[in-house]
Amino acid sequence: MQPWKMPAHALKQLYLSREASVPEVVTGMFAHIKQTEPAVDAYLTLCEESAAAQAQAIQKRYDQGEDPGLLAGVPMAVKDNLCTRNIRTTCASRMLENFTPPYNAAAVEKILAEGAILLGKTNMDEFAMGSSTEYSYFKKTRNPWNPQRVPGGSSGGSAAAVAARTAVCALGSDTGGSVRQPASFCGVVGVKPTYGRFSRYGLIAYASSLDQVGVLSQDVEDCALLTKVLSGYDPRDTTSADEKTDDYLAGLNQSVRGLTLGIPKEYYREGIHPDVRKAVEDAIGQFQTLGAAVKEVSLPHTEDCLPVYYIIACAEASSNLGRYDGVQYGRRASGYRDLSDMILKSRSEGFGPEVQRRILLGTYVLSAGYYDAYYKKAQQVRTLLKQDFDEALSQCDCLLTPVSPVTAFAFGEKSGNPVEMYLTDIFTVSVNIAGLPALVVPGGQDASGMPCGIQLVGKPFGEAVLFKIAHAFEQSTPWHSLTPKEVAL
Ligand code: GLN
Repeated sequence: MQPWKMPAHALKQLYLSREASVPEVVTGMFAHIKQTEPAVDAYLTLCEESAAAQAQAIQKRYDQGEDPGLLAGVPMAVKDNLCTRNIRTTCASRMLENFTPPYNAAAVEKILAEGAILLGKTNMDEFAMGSSTEYSYFKKTRNPWNPQRVPGGSSGGSAAAVAARTAVCALGSDTGGSVRQPASFCGVVGVKPTYGRFSRYGLIAYASSLDQVGVLSQDVEDCALLTKVLSGYDPRDTTSADEKTDDYLAGLNQSVRGLTLGIPKEYYREGIHPDVRKAVEDAIGQFQTLGAAVKEVSLPHTEDCLPVYYIIACAEASSNLGRYDGVQYGRRASGYRDLSDMILKSRSEGFGPEVQRRILLGTYVLSAGYYDAYYKKAQQVRTLLKQDFDEALSQCDCLLTPVSPVTAFAFGEKSGNPVEMYLTDIFTVSVNIAGLPALVVPGGQDASGMPCGIQLVGKPFGEAVLFKIAHAFEQSTPWHSLTPKEVAL
């Protein structure tokens, strides 16, 4: 038995029934990590010593007959843009190469309070800007299903770790698809909750009106479990929602009979790879077999999503990243003449080309002569996009869409052409623009055996409905139980 490869809910049962111990699982996990990491490179930092100490402490509590928490003894990975106390947090940037936060992000606090074991910090696109994890300053993470392919991004390290079972589950972040697209590329489950559902405290900011912490897991039940742990109001995040949280696990086994899935007609146009289209069509058929109704809906402003997203995200990034000036923390260049030379050199050395491109774009769209034409216009269109979703979701229980027009692509295929890379985000960014919850569940494979997810988009704070619908699909299809060969090691 290799219990470290099981989902959290199953592992927890083994601990409670004394069929596995936490130290044994954590030791087994690190042995698996050492074997697998050279091929995958999902982690930037590993925390073997502190994980072993945590494992001992949690096991002691099990031995005393306690149940030490919802995630007690579950080995987890955390994306490297979530602050971890006394553990380096780089955002995969040279700028933060030596940054060790003095505090934990709220999401990290919450999983630790429920007894999760922190295995390490995962690779990502620098400052979460990207869709392939190729923009990490440190290294490339490979897709466990095929080492020639990217794992997706920006939470590529977290998705690859869960797919390779070098983490039972993981935290990521999603500003425009960064949890959902890598979940799809790596064949795992991913959720981005409603904006405000999870606290952003301690999540290093990229575009604050779009950023949310998210979860990557092996199955829907784990995703619901983690959502339960992470939800709730936090006064330290002014955008945190003071909304009641549901018991996301309670309705998991309910039927989808009588529910209606909306299919946005604008999403099924040319440009979608035929294998992706087939996965979505098969999913629609499967839902009908399960007793759900399907209805065509319209999101008429779909074409405007990408420009709106890239204007707003870059504008907010240019402001958020203004804090990295080499003065208080982050990289400071040596050999400068005066203050402005120091700032110029520190920022030029510290940020990679994609981050610099976005800061420049963002500064441009916010500048006096262009603000009305770009930034203000984008905000106006954002309202129209939100209204589209309100209207579509008033006619159904959730939307069913592709995640990305393609499955995992090869290294270098898109990194030389930023617009090509941005185009892969078309079905995910709209959800962040509208602040809605969305879940990705494995839905098929392409002709070369690469995984392909499907996306379910819900009503505000309607995560529980998404879990129920996704669970019914998952339990009636084989896709989530397929694993890459690394897992067999
Ligand atoms: N790929 C998108 C971008 O580059 C989304 C990134 C994210 O969600 N953090 O902005």
